[in-house]
Amino acid sequence: MEIKVVFNNDVINNSFCSGWGFSCLVDGSILFDTGEKAQYLFNNAGLMGIDISAVEAIVISHDHWDHTGGLWDLLKKRKSLPVYSCPGFSREFKNKVVKAGGILKEANEFVQVAENIYVTGEIAGWYKGSYMPEQALVVKTDSGLTLITGCSHPGILRIIERVKEEFSGEVIKLAFGGFHLMDKDKREIRLIVEKLIDMGVKNVGPTHCTGYEAQMVFKQNYGDNYISVKAGQMFGV
Ligand SMILES: [Zn+2]
Ligand SMILES: [Zn+2]
Repeated sequence: MEIKVVFNNDVINNSFCSGWGFSCLVDGSILFDTGEKAQYLFNNAGLMGIDISAVEAIVISHDHWDHTGGLWDLLKKRKSLPVYSCPGFSREFKNKVVKAGGILKEANEFVQVAENIYVTGEIAGWYKGSYMPEQALVVKTDSGLTLITGCSHPGILRIIERVKEEFSGEVIKLAFGGFHLMDKDKREIRLIVEKLIDMGVKNVGPTHCTGYEAQMVFKQNYGDNYISVKAGQMFGV
């Protein structure tokens, strides 16, 4: 299955718009998060030959502007798209989706979005003392699972635990996206990286809000199994 990184702070070249936020397209049809601005999303999608009219569903990891920013203008172009959200997202967000013509889907548990593509459903998380629920995307192929995260406010370990509970016996061959370790000290970061290795996560692509220091610790520990995720990248899983 093909994954295209549409928006990120790092880019493969300067034709791509960069900024704060994250977005990627799975299998040509499932858009996970929308970055900070639709203009950036459309620019990058155009450069990657992505046909916006082929998007069949949008998954929003959590209710933060750098993940929802592109959603509103996208819904103007593509009315009646299912928008996978969590029950705990703000009332304001949910109303805005409905007003913009999206079909609001709220997942509490694992839900299949397309063949071999799942959302985890709401996992409790916190950001600056406020409740910030979040969901992640899981892609299942013969060689294992790929986990895509937005900011990982519930904690990357908690998200991985949830995926392992649901898909017991499956290998997590890749976890990538925001791991939100910017505010953690080096010792805690090291423990988290070791835990990921213990949990059998084979390859990692920590990006977005992971933080430079944490990325370096992942890089040291994962070596060739570390992926530098950049907008404009495409890879098969
Ligand atoms: Zn974020
Ligand atoms: Zn966030």
